[in-house]
Amino acid sequence: MFDIKLHQRPQVLILSGLDPSGGAGIQADIQTVTALGGHPLPIVTCLTVQDTRNVYNAAAVNADLVAEQLACLAEDTPIHAIKTGALGNSAIVDVLLAFITSHPNIPLIVDPVIKAAGGGDLADQALITAMRDKLFPLADVITPNGIELAGIGHSPDSGTAASSLLQNGCRAVLATGGHGTGPVIINTLFRADREPAEWSIDRVGADYKGEFHGTGCTLAAAIAAGRAAGLELDAAIEQAQQFVSVAIGNALKVGEGQPVPDRIAGQQLR
Ligand code: PLP
Repeated sequence: MFDIKLHQRPQVLILSGLDPSGGAGIQADIQTVTALGGHPLPIVTCLTVQDTRNVYNAAAVNADLVAEQLACLAEDTPIHAIKTGALGNSAIVDVLLAFITSHPNIPLIVDPVIKAAGGGDLADQALITAMRDKLFPLADVITPNGIELAGIGHSPDSGTAASSLLQNGCRAVLATGGHGTGPVIINTLFRADREPAEWSIDRVGADYKGEFHGTGCTLAAAIAAGRAAGLELDAAIEQAQQFVSVAIGNALKVGEGQPVPDRIAGQQLR
């Protein structure tokens, strides 16, 4: 027998959907948080039918069960950051809101997942409205891609769309440029009280037109891991972008559709 010294990692509560291809969703989040030195506390919000090409069906988990899981976890474990992805339905948003209200001051990173890259729906209008009006104002940062931002901010111009979300109470919007084209990806952080901050990242994997399955999940989960470890928002974003670049630069072939960022390769950044 030998003694062990127990230690605790930064713990990230994750609410997101299950993607059986292992490219996006809760598996992406778990791998990312783990690779960046955190301990994931995962709650599945919805089950999807999908492969690396598209989402074909999705069903939300019972919201009461999610509420029980949250209450049970919070009784037992410290939570250092919360990351959300696909949320299933608006009832799950309400459950999460009640939880956040009774556990304030935990950094919340919201990836407003609406559609899969292949076009399949992951949110109905009630869920989009609940996220925009109730969840975004509680978030440290939300991380929409260009398509999501245009939809929820009601403008094709990212600055205008981000302003409308900031006016609605959102604290920070990281508009991600990965779904665009061109050799450089520009991610822009909009905040109400400051000039936008921009990060330029070389686009890797141009052969795949920049489309990798689970990139948005990976970025948001990496930001949450950084915030859970005590990084300020800008530093967490910086680290997350490097993590995503390494993961994409070592992407995996899983199926016939989009390649999958290798989150384990990103571990070398630690
Ligand atoms: N969450 C789930 C459960 C998904 O199935 C998907 C996409 O298919 C996403 C999130 C978003 O993936 P991405 O990071 O590629 O935007």
